[in-house]
Amino acid sequence: MCVFCKIVNKEIPAKVVYEDDLIMAFHDINPQRKVHVLVIPKKHIPSVNDITPEDKELMGHLWVKIPEIAKKLGIAEEGYRVIVNTGKNGGQEIYHIHFHILGGEPVGPMTCRNK
Ligand code: AMP
Ligand code: ZN
Repeated sequence: MCVFCKIVNKEIPAKVVYEDDLIMAFHDINPQRKVHVLVIPKKHIPSVNDITPEDKELMGHLWVKIPEIAKKLGIAEEGYRVIVNTGKNGGQEIYHIHFHILGGEPVGPMTCRNK
């Protein structure tokens, strides 16, 4: 079972900021900005490449909840960035689809050429 499925199943602790039947949001263990939260579907979808038409409602729900979670975190008004790393070139490390919410301070340029 993947690490995020273990978080869904409460086998690994996480600082949960939102949870319902379909999704979960929790603080990233290694925050890259003052606020760094991950939003995941409870369903194990490995990456953006694995989204299918049957996930339409789930993905719509997740996107509806992102601004609500940002508001709850107090970062909505000043803005934030949602990032979904996909595959090797996208820098994805955990193959359970997740939406990074980064904010609480300026996030900076959209991409960098450091690597
Ligand atoms: P990505 O590179 O897009 O796959 O991002 C994976 C993210 O998951 C990284 O930002 C990690 O810091 C984060 N992460 C890994 N393990 C955990 C965990 N147990 N709890 C919370 N965040 C985690
Ligand atoms: Zn999983």
